[in-house]
Amino acid sequence: MKLSDMASKIRPSSTLSISAEANRRKAEGLDIINFSAGEPDFNTPENIKEAAVRAINDNFTKYTPYEGIYELRRAVADELRSEGLEYAPEDIVISNGSKHALKNAFSAIIDPGDEVIVPAPYWNSYIDIINMVYGIPVVVQTRKQNLFKVTVEELERAYTPKTKALIINSPNNPTGMVYSEKELRQIADFAVEKDIYVISDEIYKRLIYSRHLKHTSIASLGEEIKKRTIVVDGFSKSFSMTGWRVGYTASEREIAEAIANIQSNSTSNVNSIAQIAALEALSGDKSEMDDMLKEFQHRRDFIAQRISDIPLLSSILPKGAFYLFVDVSKLLGRSVRGTMLENSGDVAQILLENYGVAVVPSDAFGIKNYIRISYATSMRDIVEGTNRIEKFVKQNY
Ligand code: PMP
Ligand code: GLU
Repeated sequence: MKLSDMASKIRPSSTLSISAEANRRKAEGLDIINFSAGEPDFNTPENIKEAAVRAINDNFTKYTPYEGIYELRRAVADELRSEGLEYAPEDIVISNGSKHALKNAFSAIIDPGDEVIVPAPYWNSYIDIINMVYGIPVVVQTRKQNLFKVTVEELERAYTPKTKALIINSPNNPTGMVYSEKELRQIADFAVEKDIYVISDEIYKRLIYSRHLKHTSIASLGEEIKKRTIVVDGFSKSFSMTGWRVGYTASEREIAEAIANIQSNSTSNVNSIAQIAALEALSGDKSEMDDMLKEFQHRRDFIAQRISDIPLLSSILPKGAFYLFVDVSKLLGRSVRGTMLENSGDVAQILLENYGVAVVPSDAFGIKNYIRISYATSMRDIVEGTNRIEKFVKQNY
């Protein structure tokens, strides 16, 4: 007896595994600062929790339509319209988090052997999700000089007649970079010319820290690109709702119907109570969310400055999301506490074992020599964790 080839290929999510390991050590009583999880430390806002409690008391506890309750699909469509994206509620499918929305989206468009262009650094799960639907991830390296944003020249090099789709993630995990409208327009022209799909992962779209920069969805740049784009978003990050598991896709009706069919036979509807909570998140009071955004910005400013003050480390100021992508190449090639540091995984290991700081090494994101620090954690932890990273560098270099 043997597992399927597909199952044998799938690795556990590195971000979730590292974070689970950090939490396991914490539970054992070790003093660990967890910079690994991309999970806001804030509680879900009160008005969202209250809406969920009301849903239970109102006995809103039965199956809902498998594509999601109409009111929530309408609220999503209304929000997208305010961003220049014209979708009907029928074009929206509510799924179990945006990870599930991505799986649904790829399931709807990928045949075995189809290639998907994935610009690196990428969020780790893209590769495994594409493998799960028997697609072939084609990783294209971006350049630091271009702030890790993919260019049309790079896409051209990765393109083959088997290319079926490309994935864009702005604001980006793990770099925090945000694509401008001009950059997206070039990518849109490429996708239209080659007649390929775009999966646009916009889960960090509400977390942008510059008044001069606004989120643009590639799908808003014309009818032709909109037809080819599946927008993916979720409630986990900006509403601090990671455990509720709500996300969605917005797409052409034909794709939405295919996604709904797939979901009807796999997970059915998202938890009915969580859907009511998500509806409140979109249509209710947003003041707690605004406070979270301000706090993230404060933390970003602090941590970026703090890390750049540590010798041998450097990073680019993130414009969105809640990650700092730190270049550790100058730490490599040296023996520390009897271990030769050859890659960012070794750096992450020393930091965890000897300094009690959990970070994600960049190999998980398809690029060498970086570590990702999530600043979706308390200021107290950020101060302590960066002090420990400084101590590690100063003691050993
Ligand atoms: N996309 C990106 C870029 C992410 O960082 C994450 C991690 N949470 C997800 C999608 C999935 O999030 P969720 O399934 O919690 O909506
Ligand atoms: N996306 C978050 C991260 O990158 C949460 C973990 C996960 O779903 O992978 O850390």
